[in-house]
Amino acid sequence: MDIRINLIHYPLYVLGPNKRIGIWTQGCSFECKGCISQHTWDKDEGVLYGVEALVKEVLKSNTKRVTITGGEPFEQAVALKELLIGLRDSGIDDILLYSGFSYRYLQQKFQDILELIDVLVVGRFEIDKPTEFVYKGSDNQEMVILNQNLKEEYMSYKKKRDRELQVINRNGIFVLGIPKIGRQIDEKV
Ligand code: SF4
Repeated sequence: MDIRINLIHYPLYVLGPNKRIGIWTQGCSFECKGCISQHTWDKDEGVLYGVEALVKEVLKSNTKRVTITGGEPFEQAVALKELLIGLRDSGIDDILLYSGFSYRYLQQKFQDILELIDVLVVGRFEIDKPTEFVYKGSDNQEMVILNQNLKEEYMSYKKKRDRELQVINRNGIFVLGIPKIGRQIDEKV
């Protein structure tokens, strides 16, 4: 099975604790005002990646920590589940996933997939609700720690104020991470 991807990057330092690999899925229908990832909205852009190949790509990196964001990962729910199973079977033990859906909706529709995830950041981005929580885009979003073994580590970032961004060059300059509201920048320039 294939999954449509916008970007894969290792090392990633700004979306989740420690050094991680980041996977940005392609396609998002939410159209949040002020979204810095508008280049991930079109579900026909990006590249198709075999799930098995993607798991191998993750394993080539020197980390067991993965961040999956987008785009909206749950808009490719079947492929997402297959990817998560592959990652789990390969020993990945810290999976942070960003979604624009609410936690309640995901519990109702995708409980089987939630069981494969360690930490969620959920909810639409709302540009008029700034937050000090370094891994949230706006204050209405919710961080849900599903794996209690990771609770202390993730909670230690809750009020960290030195929000950082990461600049990479991948056929164009990308800025990774979550800028503070009021300092919006284009993610790809
Ligand atoms: S859910 Fe995320 S990627 Fe989709 S429009 Fe909202 S902020 Fe952008």
